[in-house]
Amino acid sequence: MTAWRHDLHAHPEFGFEESRTSAFVAQKLREFGLDEIAEGVGGTGVVGTLRRGSGNRAIALRADMDALRITEQGTPAYRSLNSGVMHACGHDGHTAMLLGAAKLLAAEGGFDGTVRFIFQPAEEWGKGALAMLEDGLMRRFPFDEIYGLHNMPGVPVGQFETRPGPIMSAEDNFEVAFRGVGGHASRPHEGREVLIAAAAFVVNLQTIVSRRLSPADIAVVSVTELLTDGTRNALPGFARVLGDARSFRPEVSAAIEREMRVIAEGTARTYNCDVEMTYTREFVPLVNDAEATRAALAAAATVFEPEAIKAEREPMTASEDFARFLDHVPGCFAFIGNGENSPPLHNPEFDFNDAALVHGTRFHVAIARQRLPQA
Ligand SMILES: [Zn+2]
Ligand SMILES: [Zn+2]
Repeated sequence: MTAWRHDLHAHPEFGFEESRTSAFVAQKLREFGLDEIAEGVGGTGVVGTLRRGSGNRAIALRADMDALRITEQGTPAYRSLNSGVMHACGHDGHTAMLLGAAKLLAAEGGFDGTVRFIFQPAEEWGKGALAMLEDGLMRRFPFDEIYGLHNMPGVPVGQFETRPGPIMSAEDNFEVAFRGVGGHASRPHEGREVLIAAAAFVVNLQTIVSRRLSPADIAVVSVTELLTDGTRNALPGFARVLGDARSFRPEVSAAIEREMRVIAEGTARTYNCDVEMTYTREFVPLVNDAEATRAALAAAATVFEPEAIKAEREPMTASEDFARFLDHVPGCFAFIGNGENSPPLHNPEFDFNDAALVHGTRFHVAIARQRLPQA
């Protein structure tokens, strides 16, 4: 698995461009002797199927394959050979762990039913799971429940964390454009400059979480970019404010959008300019099924030390494409430690910790055997 992981790490591919990675995965699954291997599912996705016994239940295990447009700053021997792209989220490790589980379950069985190995493209965009679902994933490769893992920097290797209910947030993106009349920096009263409106808007947005949502709801509203057509001695007539909002319930996401429109329109009126707002929903919240989470914890108990299992970790305001599968079947998403000294996810020095591979593989094998027990 370590050799596979290093090979994948050296050849990272961006979302929906994972042609080498998916060919690598399909080749391995053929070598392991899976019963069925489907390539090109939702673009570059791969689904492997393994059947044993006569059971008619199926469970899915999922890994993601895509890398990020980040230039690797770390210097491992297997450093990215694809300049400007790197496995900064550890999807190389997730893919290697699931391949390991496929090899072990193909060789040793120990279950009765069907296991689907889902290797999804484009997780980072929040588009790959939908692409597979739209390509008939549930109809062509039906399954009753699904499990997935992500590595977690800052958590010791050999530790397992999950929670029932909401565990990762929705991600919404917004763009608000103010239009007025630019002009000479010395004569603001002759135009309708917009930077002051944009600046006020950024400050007013801070009242969404602090004053307009219930304190019991978790949400984040972040402005990440402010662009204008001004220059040092000319006032802008156009300003764009971009940002990102996170929440765990559709009602909260709807409230953020509604309040943002009120603030955008009110601010534009105050500063005598026009405003246009677009608000899009990129990721849905990831809500773990209670029964599937109990099952995941029971499987984890056979792999991890009791004191290394956290059954009620805090929800995170990061987002995960795995959530899309949970619109169709119950399932559970969990984290495994990537080491206390690991650089954060999406950091140019990040590297998946090879010592964690075996834990992920053992978990995948354990959940398959527990959920599809032999008579
Ligand atoms: Zn990521
Ligand atoms: Zn990731």
